[in-house]
Amino acid sequence: MHALISGAGIAGPVLAYWLCRNGWQVTVVDRATDMRAGDGGHAVDLFGPAVEVIERMGLLDRVTGARTANDTITLFREGRRPITVATADLAGGISGRHVEIMRGTLAGFLHEATLDDVDYRFGTVIDRLDAGRATLSDGTTIEADLIVGADGLHSGVRRLVFGAERDHRRFLGAYLGVYTLPDVLGAGPTVAAFTAPGLAATVYPTRTEGLSRALFLARTPEEIPHDRRDPRAQKRLLRELVGDALGPRVATVLEHAGAAGDFYLDDISQIRMDTWSRGPVTLVGDAGYGPGPAVGGGTSLAAAGAYVLAARLRDVTVAGIPTALREYEDALAAPVRNSRRIGPAVLNAIVPRSRSQVWATAQVMRLLPHLPAAVRDRLTAFGGGPAAMLDGLTLP
Ligand SMILES: Cc1cc2nc3c(=O)[nH]c(=O)nc-3n(C[C@H](O)[C@H](O)[C@H](O)COP(=O)(O)OP(=O)(O)OC[C@H]3O[C@@H](n4cnc5c(N)ncnc54)[C@H](O)[C@@H]3O)c2cc1C
Repeated sequence: MHALISGAGIAGPVLAYWLCRNGWQVTVVDRATDMRAGDGGHAVDLFGPAVEVIERMGLLDRVTGARTANDTITLFREGRRPITVATADLAGGISGRHVEIMRGTLAGFLHEATLDDVDYRFGTVIDRLDAGRATLSDGTTIEADLIVGADGLHSGVRRLVFGAERDHRRFLGAYLGVYTLPDVLGAGPTVAAFTAPGLAATVYPTRTEGLSRALFLARTPEEIPHDRRDPRAQKRLLRELVGDALGPRVATVLEHAGAAGDFYLDDISQIRMDTWSRGPVTLVGDAGYGPGPAVGGGTSLAAAGAYVLAARLRDVTVAGIPTALREYEDALAAPVRNSRRIGPAVLNAIVPRSRSQVWATAQVMRLLPHLPAAVRDRLTAFGGGPAAMLDGLTLP
């Protein structure tokens, strides 16, 4: 049996690993020219069942060894004393089993774990799909029994098989910007946080000495047309969205956006599809059910979803694939439904809408360490939480 997977992010390599273990031949294509491993990208979370998937792949020690070490968050406010809280207190309501790691580092580990068995083709995309026959951008064709779009929020496979992205995307009312810069704040090992009505920013140290990463969230009532292929226009848009509302420290951070080589800006949107399989084609991870970048626990859903898909495909014949894909969708229906609540709830909690919510956030942070654990956990559960979305998902 041969599977062609588009996307070597998180879901793609996890799926490839388990398919290979079950005797499949696997080809993975990815638009990127390499795996972009290492310290790059942004911090992502593995919760509950997703941690278990990593453990079953024998990677848990490496992953926990490379976890981010952001043990505290400090809320900076103009003219007031900063408030520092242990991240464990803020995440207490999210999950009992949780690892935060840089996406690039995790992707690198997953790539290494599959390198010997998988035919990876970077710098290559699927241009055309005709049932099980794919025409690739390098001019070659591949006949596969199964074709999987694991190619993220802006999935090419989804567009080819299910139509335009706008038909499957729901804007959650905010934009997200991320980039690496020198450690201009000198805030030490803490995550420096700033809020204003409609805005939130964090600046945290990377694992590379002297470098930090900034992450901005900005609410907008309407979507703003922007060209993802034009970083200069995107940097301008972030500056316009943030303005000077977050104070002089953040203004300094924003000045460094211009020089950032890894600048990323996108709308915060969910992918909502009633079904994400057709014939021999299916979607996994953000491509099929992205809960919203930075607010929804998409990494856990991607890893757990890929594992469940591989489990349903174990021992199937070609004729059994459509049934296996239906069972995969059924198994994920509840977590995917839950995940759609999470993004808006997290966004509401971390990006205040008003001055009074800015004030209330500071008060909660000040009180948090002094509250009984049960109350603290309830306050930080974020409407069920990115971990709770996976509740009820028992790994086969
Ligand atoms: C700034 C930011 C912050 C985030 N923070 C968090 C967080 O705190 N916690 C969390 O859990 N999640 C977070 N996420 C979300 C998380 O990164 C995703 O949910 C997760 O990476 C999904 O994995 P995936 O494998 O489905 O897709 P991705 O990791 O996006 O991988 C998709 C892959 O497909 C490739 N690709 C794209 N288009 C094509 C194409 N047409 N053809 C071939 N290949 C293609 C890409 O190069 C990439 O390698 C964040 C995302 C962003 C952008």
